[in-house]
Amino acid sequence: MDNDCLFCRIVAGEIPAAVVHETETTLAFRDIDPKAPVHVLVIPKAHHTDVVALVLADPAAAADVLGAAAAVAEAEGLRGDGFRLIFNNGGYAGQEVFHAHGHVLGGRPLGPMLARS
Ligand code: AMP
Ligand code: ZN
Repeated sequence: MDNDCLFCRIVAGEIPAAVVHETETTLAFRDIDPKAPVHVLVIPKAHHTDVVALVLADPAAAADVLGAAAAVAEAEGLRGDGFRLIFNNGGYAGQEVFHAHGHVLGGRPLGPMLARS
């Protein structure tokens, strides 16, 4: 655990979160500032700065995160209409929390994949 990491502190129970799914290696909880009717973050319990670091260090845990994202999508009723799974990595992607996480987004049409600039 990284004591300075917000998501490690959520895993440790030091900061509250609306948990929707938990496995031995993953935790999923609602984003505090949802960008869609369903916006859930899926994280490995172990600290890795981003999804590339995660997959290099522990490919099985990376697979667990994907499995948890799929379980969340199913449980939230997103499979039929579709949903988006986003991993922001580093500066250009606007990553704000440097503990690997996937965003499960759905519940309405999500528009184009990216805003044009
Ligand atoms: P990213 O920009 O991919 O690093 O996403 C970080 C996400 O974490 C943002 O969507 C934030 O709204 C979300 N977030 C920040 N603090 C919390 C928190 N305490 N509980 C739940 N989600 C949070
Ligand atoms: Zn962490």
